[in-house]
Amino acid sequence: MELWVATANSHKLEEIRHILNNHTFEIHSTAELEYYTSPLETGKTFTENARIKAKTLKAVKLNAWILADDSGLEVEGLNNMPGVHSARYAGEKARDSENTAKSLKMMSLLSATYRKAQFRCCLVLIDPNGHEHIFEGILLGEISRQQRGQNGFGYDNIFIPQGGNKTLAELTPAEKNKISHRAQALRKLKEQLFK
Ligand code: IMP
Repeated sequence: MELWVATANSHKLEEIRHILNNHTFEIHSTAELEYYTSPLETGKTFTENARIKAKTLKAVKLNAWILADDSGLEVEGLNNMPGVHSARYAGEKARDSENTAKSLKMMSLLSATYRKAQFRCCLVLIDPNGHEHIFEGILLGEISRQQRGQNGFGYDNIFIPQGGNKTLAELTPAEKNKISHRAQALRKLKEQLFK
């Protein structure tokens, strides 16, 4: 069976492969589709955006399982921003380093109590019969004072999971994949579908 993942983000795909660790599926992504254009993420919520991505890919891969991940960082002191704008917080084509730099600048304006944050991951899975399944995972934590660590992607180097003192970027991929928002959502998916 083929599972097509609606992402061109190689980091996300790598994490999904690692966490799913499922031999039932041959996992592919839209990065393999030469003429595929990702849809505009016009939704107001992670679920809406994941659904937009999943449905767009379903139209191309009708008989496959389709998985879309929409995820991002919500900072309490920033009124849950960047949220669905996480990938483009510092501008439409912003690099990860520009997004994290902007976040740290915004955070420097806030007092310590407002550094609480969470990563949220929403997965929309469409099965070959066209039925939709939704799973969500949340990782609680706080924003660090400076960037630390080289692993991972996105905001990993400024996010310290609750109960620890390392940023996600200072953890090994295996350590991140045990606790992350994506891991929690994928665990629910596995429990419901592959028991
Ligand atoms: P999406 O591809 O539209 O869902 O954008 C997700 C964005 O949220 C990414 O570009 C990252 O900036 C951020 N993000 C999502 N998940 C993670 C993660 O596991 N670590 C760090 N940043 C993440």
